[in-house]
Amino acid sequence: MPRPIEALVHRSALAHNLARVRAAAPDARVLAVVKANAYGHGIERVYEALRGADGFALLDLAEAERVRALGWRGPIVLLEGAFEPRDLEHVSRLDLWHVVHCSAQIDWLAAHKSARAQRVFLKMNSGMNRLGFAPAAYRAAWARLSALPQVGEITLATHFSDADGARGIAHQAAIFDAATRDLPGERSLANSAAILRHRLPQVTADWVRAGIMSYGSAPDFPAGDIAHWGLRPTMTLRARVIAVQQLERGDTVGYGSSYTAPGPTRIGIVACGYADGYPRHGAGGTPVLVDGVATVTVGRVSMDMLAVDLGPLADAGCGSEVTLWGEGPHGTRLPIDEVARAAGTIGYELMCALAARVPVQTVD
Ligand SMILES: *Cc1c(COP(=O)(O)O)cnc(C)c1O
Repeated sequence: MPRPIEALVHRSALAHNLARVRAAAPDARVLAVVKANAYGHGIERVYEALRGADGFALLDLAEAERVRALGWRGPIVLLEGAFEPRDLEHVSRLDLWHVVHCSAQIDWLAAHKSARAQRVFLKMNSGMNRLGFAPAAYRAAWARLSALPQVGEITLATHFSDADGARGIAHQAAIFDAATRDLPGERSLANSAAILRHRLPQVTADWVRAGIMSYGSAPDFPAGDIAHWGLRPTMTLRARVIAVQQLERGDTVGYGSSYTAPGPTRIGIVACGYADGYPRHGAGGTPVLVDGVATVTVGRVSMDMLAVDLGPLADAGCGSEVTLWGEGPHGTRLPIDEVARAAGTIGYELMCALAARVPVQTVD
């Protein structure tokens, strides 16, 4: 028998969440962001459900190649653009759209021998200070690009640093508007948090870039959660109890003895550890479902195992089903965001970190 752990990717939930993107940005075209191997889900596993999008956005040429290999003929956007001049040959061959965020990328385009004009997303640094042209340099970059025969349509793009939080997007949106007001071309501004929380027409204009919400995690958790936003988990991680320990008061569990039983306690040992992608940093107390009943982890997570308190579960034992996140038995659910919070991280990181050794099943 294989080790009792597996992940499920829920196709119908992906399609449902994509419909939520459409409902939240009804006038926009949707780029389904599938970078990081579709946020850990696997590009090939999500493709059928997300092909209802108007395009895909990702980072790697290898990932773009995989999307083309699945038969996708529509838009694919490289969100960081070319990393070296040669990349533009693959951009041409695979017919990709690509972000231009610095002058070197414009130099490469000017030197590129292209059979057809390429579509670019010209990125402005409107305050995040990661990628993009400063507002004062944006117009010159646009003028230079639009004079190049290698360049076709230019989409005006920026990215928000605080769409999920208190600072919001107004300051960046104002900078972007002021610097682009009289420039022609489509716009692309919104990520999931902006789509959900800031649905102004100029924010959800033309092309939205929906990542995390499609994967059933709330970008603004705990202010919003997936129930509030009408999203469904798209990834379940589940395993089984492989041993039970009866502890007496004062007994400890796991490395470092970080958990001490306050009295007689039944502990289940679960076939899931940090080498499966489960976060090690929740020092006990992380929510988990056993046979669909809520309980918590105790002690440190080890490489291949973790321990859970079976206190609330008189009937649980070896073989009991443990939901680390996602959909549990009998319609129960443990949002990945709740697990992430207990571990001091975000849903994005947990889903992206699902380990290659965990077998994955695609289900409806
Ligand atoms: C990853 C990414 C997105 C998607 O962000 P989510 O928060 O997952 O919706 C959008 N735009 C850019 C430029 C990105 O890098």
